Amino acid sequence: MIVKMKFFSILVLCLIQYNHLQSQYCGTSHVDQQRMIDLSSGEQGNSRPDFAQTIYIPLLIHSLSNDGSSSYYGNWQLYETLGTLNKDFEKSGIQFFLEKPIHYISRTKWNDHKDYNDGEEMMIENNVADQVNCYLVQNPAGNCGYYTYRGDGVALSKSCLGKLSHTWAHELGHFFSLPHTFFGWEGIDYSFQKSTAEYKAKVWNQIENVERIDCNSQADQFCDTEPDYISDRWPCDANNRSLINLKDLNDSIFNADGSLFMSYAFDGCMSRFSNEQNNGMLNNISNRRQILLRPNVKPIYQNTDSFDFIYPLNESTVPYKSLTITWPKVEGAKYYLVQVARAPSFSIIVKNEIIESTSTYIDSLLPGKTYYARVKAVNDFEFNGTYAHPIKFYAEGLQTSNSDGFASPEVTVFPNPVTRGKNLIVTFPQELGIQNIEILTIAGQRVTDKLNWDIYNKSMATLTDLQLSSGVYVLQLTTESGIIAKRIVVE
Ligand SMILES: [Zn+2]
Repeated sequence: MIVKMKFFSILVLCLIQYNHLQSQYCGTSHVDQQRMIDLSSGEQGNSRPDFAQTIYIPLLIHSLSNDGSSSYYGNWQLYETLGTLNKDFEKSGIQFFLEKPIHYISRTKWNDHKDYNDGEEMMIENNVADQVNCYLVQNPAGNCGYYTYRGDGVALSKSCLGKLSHTWAHELGHFFSLPHTFFGWEGIDYSFQKSTAEYKAKVWNQIENVERIDCNSQADQFCDTEPDYISDRWPCDANNRSLINLKDLNDSIFNADGSLFMSYAFDGCMSRFSNEQNNGMLNNISNRRQILLRPNVKPIYQNTDSFDFIYPLNESTVPYKSLTITWPKVEGAKYYLVQVARAPSFSIIVKNEIIESTSTYIDSLLPGKTYYARVKAVNDFEFNGTYAHPIKFYAEGLQTSNSDGFASPEVTVFPNPVTRGKNLIVTFPQELGIQNIEILTIAGQRVTDKLNWDIYNKSMATLTDLQLSSGVYVLQLTTESGIIAKRIVVE
């Protein structure tokens, strides 16, 4: 009995917890939703640009951290989330791009705001008028996100974002005038046991029925979004319908449609805006939000789907000191997102950066350990970008014997022997202070010089498209403390 009681209290506790968390999915007030509807009702029929083509809308990301802290939302996750956002808006004919760099703000009062007033102050002080202003914060007044009319921006909780999250699409739906599919039921717990007529006094606009008569004036005022009374987050079945039954004022039984971003269904259920919702957003953009239109913007695309690292190669062993990871330049890329980790899931991150160059330097790895690296090329239009095939590599152990016959274990040459027409990669510690690198014949005749080499971070040199006839050569490195020679074989 005691055990049973215990189980019961845990269950009750879980339910309370669940309810508490889920009721705070979105903090967009019904007052502001109504205001957006009222403002756009006069906009129908105004001149609209040609929406047969995709329209590009500038998104400005304000990334927040606490006072004096630099722990902003991670770039890898940010670009993945933006990729999902653009996928969510693809069928609407709307694509977001970054016209301005990410705006970093370190201020605890805004990053962790319990009160909407602080959030609105953040927006009013930082909004740029011709952008969709989005604020990535730790705590947007206890919600996953919200839009407010006064702040005219969206605040998003970093912990609610991610590749599989549609929170951003939902809040931008509000930004472009859309109310919830269950508009009017915010904060009301629906129960099938009660007669729906009993809710009439509480629900603060007309309750929507299954029957399509008057759907233009009921709830969200869209006829191609069905009735929905659920204002807590909810799970769905395989057809994205609510597991619970609902009944309307005529006692017609139905299940809410969780495929719509403007519902409160779980992220896994959501995949779309309806046609009328799309039209509502496009009307809003072409009228109240004309300032966001960029008819002359031409998106930049990267042509390749994927690429391979230049160095190290997958499953190879590298020196544990002074590692330079390199990859080829991707046409159309603006930044490279780089992650080096100790786990294949990229959970134990050693290096996490966004850079413009095609190489990154790691001073020291743990000898004998396994590492994983991944790189993604992105630009201001392509957030999912182009991936390098991820690699796994091993840091050389401290006791590794030098079996390749080279004089200096600090310098590695890869591959050796090397095939004519291939790339030769040489790595060496930064401390050597490399001054020159060249290849000589056995007789001492110089066949390449410094100009043929790309040198990265004073720790790695690559020679692309090696054009030497087969034979044995000497690779010669001039360093601060003398010359290091290595034998290489060209096949
Ligand atoms: Zn909402």
